Amino acid sequence: MTSQIPPLPLVPGRGLSGRTALVTGSTSGIGLGVARALAAAGANVVLNGFGDAAEITHLCATLEAETGVTVGFSGADMRKPEEIAAMIAEADARIAPIDILVNNAGIQYVSPIESFPLDKWDEIIAINLTAVFHATRAVVGRMKERRWGRIINTGSAHALVASPFKSAYVAAKHGVMGLTKVVALETAEFGVTCNSICPGYVWTPLVEKQIADQCKVHGKSRDEVIRDILLAPQPTRRFVTVEEVGAIAVFLASDGAQSITGTSISVDGGWIAR
Ligand code: NAD
Repeated sequence: MTSQIPPLPLVPGRGLSGRTALVTGSTSGIGLGVARALAAAGANVVLNGFGDAAEITHLCATLEAETGVTVGFSGADMRKPEEIAAMIAEADARIAPIDILVNNAGIQYVSPIESFPLDKWDEIIAINLTAVFHATRAVVGRMKERRWGRIINTGSAHALVASPFKSAYVAAKHGVMGLTKVVALETAEFGVTCNSICPGYVWTPLVEKQIADQCKVHGKSRDEVIRDILLAPQPTRRFVTVEEVGAIAVFLASDGAQSITGTSISVDGGWIAR
């Protein structure tokens, strides 16, 4: 099956020029790193997430000035299916149909299962898993029609292996991995790929926020949590950077990755090699 859109160069650089990417949860952390990398590779990007309105406006303007691409923003709440649909329709109308969807928005909560708050379970499943379904569902038809598309899910090492006290997160991320495989099978003949990037620990606000909870459940100090809990399973003993995750997203979005689908790429310092 050949793509109706002329092929882009295999080597990144500005190889994504003319593509439009939506990165959910991209006002900070990994999502912002991925959005920056895609923009640097020439893709127009739509940012999404929460944060201070003036800071987000400044962020969009800076990214546009640095990269020369068009940068849009949607404050859609990924817990709300109607806001996800509206964000995608608006991106389509204002910039272009989404060629590259990065399902990245996510939250974390750490607690033993017997006291895991019910509202936290629902919220994690809604943002980390159900939103991936809604956003994918909204873009995939147009991608199939256009015979080109990239769906990149931010999984986690926790999409492949478990840790205690993260029942909702591990369940959601394993779900994302299953969904990744189904979408890959349904789109394989249409020039569309779907994969998950599975980072180990990346130093972002999401990790910073869980340190206090980890101190509580493990009875350890902050330094002990970083050394004995967070970096213990990561043989490199260093945090992954958002730039490293961004580089993999650019590769998966390139035409060089067109035969990679339904799988995961671990960026975890060797975590799951154990
Ligand atoms: P982060 O807290 O820095 O960023 C999360 C982003 O999601 C922010 O932009 C936030 O505004 C947005 N967001 C949160 N709730 C939202 C909602 N309801 N609607 C729209 N946007 C919302 O977190 P991060 O560490 O960059 O995590 C990003 C993704 O990477 C998540 O899916 C997370 O599970 C995954 N991940 C993180 C790590 C890590 O160590 N940091 C490791 C593996 C996977």
